[in-house]
Amino acid sequence: MSGKVNIIGGGLAGSEAAWQAARLGVPVVLYEMRPERGTDAHLTGGLAELVCSNSFRSDDSERSAIGLLHEEMRRCGSLILAMADAHKVPAGGALAVDRDGFSDAVQAALEAEPLIEIRREEVCGLPAADQGPDRTSTIIATGPLTSPALSEAIGAITGEDSLAFFDAIAPIIYKDSIDFSKAWMQSRYDKEGPAGDAAAYINCPLDEQGYEALIDAMLAADTTEFKQWEKDTPYFDGCLPIEVMAERGRETPRYGPMKPVGLTNPHNPTVKAHAIVQLRQDNALGTLYNIVGFQTKMKHGEQVRVLQTIPGLEQARFARLGGLHRNSFINSPKLLDETLALRSRPDLRFAGQITGVEGYIESAAMGLLAGRFATGRLAPPPPTTALGALLNHITQGADAATFQPMNVNFGLFPPHPERVKKALRKQAYCQRALTDMDGWLSAATIAAE
Ligand SMILES: Cc1cc2nc3c(=O)[nH]c(=O)nc-3n(C[C@H](O)[C@H](O)[C@H](O)COP(=O)(O)OP(=O)(O)OC[C@H]3O[C@@H](n4cnc5c(N)ncnc54)[C@H](O)[C@@H]3O)c2cc1C
Repeated sequence: MSGKVNIIGGGLAGSEAAWQAARLGVPVVLYEMRPERGTDAHLTGGLAELVCSNSFRSDDSERSAIGLLHEEMRRCGSLILAMADAHKVPAGGALAVDRDGFSDAVQAALEAEPLIEIRREEVCGLPAADQGPDRTSTIIATGPLTSPALSEAIGAITGEDSLAFFDAIAPIIYKDSIDFSKAWMQSRYDKEGPAGDAAAYINCPLDEQGYEALIDAMLAADTTEFKQWEKDTPYFDGCLPIEVMAERGRETPRYGPMKPVGLTNPHNPTVKAHAIVQLRQDNALGTLYNIVGFQTKMKHGEQVRVLQTIPGLEQARFARLGGLHRNSFINSPKLLDETLALRSRPDLRFAGQITGVEGYIESAAMGLLAGRFATGRLAPPPPTTALGALLNHITQGADAATFQPMNVNFGLFPPHPERVKKALRKQAYCQRALTDMDGWLSAATIAAE
């Protein structure tokens, strides 16, 4: 059993790790450098701030790997999932949250937990190994925008150069500036969300000519300049800027975020749109909407000019414009053991996006595990669960030579031993995972008694 846990970084992973460790009876000191020192993407001093989209993606725990991860985390008593459920906004089959309400609630819960002390300061170096009776361990959960001094200290101790790639942020628009004589509310295939809403998205239709003009405008727009080191850094495919997607193929956005399927324009029901731009609710009040898939590195003035050519967005007012950021992560398959501890310094654990998972919930999931492991509960979850599959991938399954950040997906799970029809395979994976998750949780409870 660990005596005390220091956690560096109060984002998605660090907040979840602190909660888990404290709930298992271990005192925690949580260090967060904001608001004293900011990052290129965070806007507030709040814990668990969402820096871009407000969506935790699909909440379908019967057919989707991310929805399954949600459910497993709920069963593990996740703070992030509990507060997401409490602050969700309509988003079809996805779990999306009011970002401020969510962050405030996570922070309030952590502040109210007697075993957690929150210190607002930047940690610039790593502690020496604790040989004393206290057995203090440390979790590094400083995310893709780890401050430079700490990045340097991590580089020195791992002996590895950090890898890097880019993510881009999508713009957010005020709903009351959208022209609903052209746009309409509808979820794809009228899919009902957890709150029973079937019309969660705002849709803006484009005909062929409008689509081609938009692609031309995006391709011609001025983008943020790259520095030399940035030119050598690859994008992660899951978060491509829309104009880079268009560069790869003019039709690519039409088969991605702008696909015109499952939607009928009530203003013109007999004419099928060539492409559709969707906006998803961004706050509980329903006053802000982000443009789905429109992460961009276009310069701010260019974003306004280009996006206002979309039907319905001609008068759009922007609450936040898109942007570009660097993302750093360590080579986990080479450096970490199966409890997220550094092989060369087992008192140091890593959690969150810095371990090479990708996404809010995947980051929180690695926080959840690191927090539990730091209390001395060292049995990893079975690889048949979403938590176990992701952990297994980053610490053992992935090839260290080509390691790239990863979302949770069924490709990371061991094949199902029974022959299951293709149409039922995802359900079979999910059922097996939840059974194994319950078994793992009860074994951990018995072991602790
Ligand atoms: C701009 C951007 C957009 C993204 N968009 C999405 C998205 O739309 N959807 C999605 O699923 N994922 C997205 N991601 C990826 C990822 O899910 C998020 O970065 C997520 O917040 C990662 O969680 P984390 O806890 O690992 O890091 P964070 O949430 O970033 O938390 C790390 C915390 O550590 C603090 N910190 C850093 N250095 C120090 C230090 N030295 N001392 C003390 N505190 C420190 C930071 O202030 C921060 O609060 C995005 C990432 C970025 C950077």
